[in-house]
Order: sequence, then structure tokens, then C-alpha cells
Amino acid sequence: MEIERAIKTKINQVDFKNLSFGETFSDHMFLCDYLKGKWNTPKIIPYQPITLDPSTSALHYGQAVFEGMKAYKDNNGGVWMFRPKENWLRLNKSCKRMKIPEFPEDYFMKGLKKLLSMDSEWIQSGGENSLYIRPFVFASQPTVQAAPSKEYKFIIICSPAKSYYNDSEFNVLIAEKFSRAADGGVGYAKAAGNYGAQFYPTSIAQQKGYQQVVWTDANEHKYLEEAGTMNIFVRIDNKIITAPTNDRILDGVTRKSAIQLAKDMGIDVEVRSITVNEVVNALNDGSLKEIFGTGTAVVVIPITGFGYKKIDYKLPSIKDSYAKRLKTAITEIQYNISDDPYNWRVRV
Ligand SMILES: *Cc1c(COP(=O)(O)O)cnc(C)c1O
Repeated sequence: MEIERAIKTKINQVDFKNLSFGETFSDHMFLCDYLKGKWNTPKIIPYQPITLDPSTSALHYGQAVFEGMKAYKDNNGGVWMFRPKENWLRLNKSCKRMKIPEFPEDYFMKGLKKLLSMDSEWIQSGGENSLYIRPFVFASQPTVQAAPSKEYKFIIICSPAKSYYNDSEFNVLIAEKFSRAADGGVGYAKAAGNYGAQFYPTSIAQQKGYQQVVWTDANEHKYLEEAGTMNIFVRIDNKIITAPTNDRILDGVTRKSAIQLAKDMGIDVEVRSITVNEVVNALNDGSLKEIFGTGTAVVVIPITGFGYKKIDYKLPSIKDSYAKRLKTAITEIQYNISDDPYNWRVRV
């Protein structure tokens, strides 16, 4: 690995108390080029713009994937990642689907560790702070040929983040027309275009006063699939239900961690498809207790209401919610507060 340090840190210009998500970046970035059939020697350089030819393939055909993960600082200044191998595995699953060459594990892990150790000051201590890590790959060959690029750039950038508060309204609109993913498609990949395609339907939902769209299956709009860019869980009585991962559903690291920890708490977990009708019926008969989303950015976030077929439904407010218990259990592992029975924490 080649390393070029920033001459001067930008950290003193950052107001860590008023961070807007994803707009401030740390001092360094990790970069690796795929040229002539192989990933070249990676490097860490000062965070900076990159120059691109207007014909750069990814700009035309969207051959690009990304990951999202975080680093945390414990009360003794120790820096931790959470299940980073899962992100590496998923990155390569996404790459494979998008015909991007897979990225080597040791480049990914060593690059991450070195970058985080160089920029560790950017991870503030305290449970509300973390450093969001964005690895991504894109087709960088200058060509408008509609074919897989022969060149790629793999980059990791980092952005300091504050945790979301969980007590705000979070109303979702259940999709009846638009779809996020289809069988045989790329829904399970963190492919850039999946997100771009969500902006328009999501903006329509937001104009109607909802914060996010809950995606349903593309065939019948009958089954719940995901909440925006999060996996979704429904609690009926004391059981939680979440859709199985498949072609259309992103295999979230938070989702699988929540499933495991819920089981360990003695909560019944059912991994099966669930229809919107079942949720509406459960709400009407009082057995629907919670709906929540899971993802790296928010960990676990309760959904407070949903719109479906022009009716707005409110969820009951609940003390000692599973959402809260699971969020606490996950964050205590991430911040090195509790035991880590599955070795999910990785020290930097
Ligand atoms: C990233 C993502 C998730 C959550 O995955 P985590 O690994 O838990 O962050 C869920 N759904 C979609 C569509 C995503 O892109």
C-alpha cells in the first residue's frame, strides 16, 4: 500500500455537534485501480476530487456498486468495526451481479484498518457518534461502449455521523404502483441505480407527507419487502416477522444481527413473507405491536404509521419495544459495552 498523508487536517473546521449526514469527509481516502486485468497497488491519499473523462462508463451505464458500514469508538478510545467481512462478501456479491471484478479481501480489510487508524480522530467517542464508511466501485474506462468496463476504481471515503433520534414520527407509504426490485433483477445488490430509481417514487410519497416508501413485491404489490433502504420487521403479538432474502431483498447486516439477537432474547422470529393485508388485519384486531426498519445508518427505527389504499394507519405507542431492545443490544456490541458472543466486533 502506498501512503500519502494530508499536510494539514481539516478536523478543526468541523462542527461535530451539527453534522448533516454525508456531507463532511475525513482527511484521507483509500483508492485502488483495476487496470489491464488486475487490481493494482492500493493507496491512501488525502481526500480530494477525482478527474473523470466525460465518457467514463459508469456515468452512462450505471455499472457501480457501494457498501455502507460504520466505525465506533469505545470509552477507552478503542476503535471498532462491526462485521466488516459481511460487507466485503456483499460487495463482491453486488460486483458479480454487475459484472465488476471482485475485490480482494486483504486489500479491503487492510485498506479499511489503515484508513481508519489514520483518520481515527474523526471518530468521536460517545454512543451517538460514529464514522460512516462508504466503500464503492465504479466503471472508470473512458468509453461509451455498452459493455462491461475494462477499468474500475475502488474507493473508500469516510464521513462523521451522529445517530438518529428514535422518538420522531416515521410514517411510510406502502407502494401500490412503483417497485424497487423484481425477480431476476438486481434488488439484492447494492447497485447504485437501485437508489437513483427510488428517488422519484419516494419524493411523491414525501409530498404526501410520508417519510419513506415501503416497497412491496413487483408482481402483486401484496407482500412487504423493504422500508426505503432498510429491511423491515413486523411484530405481531410477541413474534417478529421479516421477509426472507431473495433476488429482490438486500441481505442487511443489521437484519441478520437483529434476527440472531432477538432469538437470543427468546423472541420468536419468523422469516417468511408477510402481506399488507395481514398487517392491516393485525392492526385492526390489536395484535400488531410494532413495525421497524433496520440498517447501518439508523440501526433500528420504529415506524409510527403507514398509508395504504388511501387510509392512514397509526401504530400503537409501546413501552419496552422490541425495536428499542434490539437497537440497544446491537449498539452495545458495536461500542464495546457488552459481550460479543459471535465475534462481530473487529478492532482497528
Ligand atoms: C444497505 C441496505 C439495507 C441495510 O443493510 P445493512 O447491512 O443493515 O446496512 C437494506 N436494504 C437496502 C435496500 C439497502 O441498500
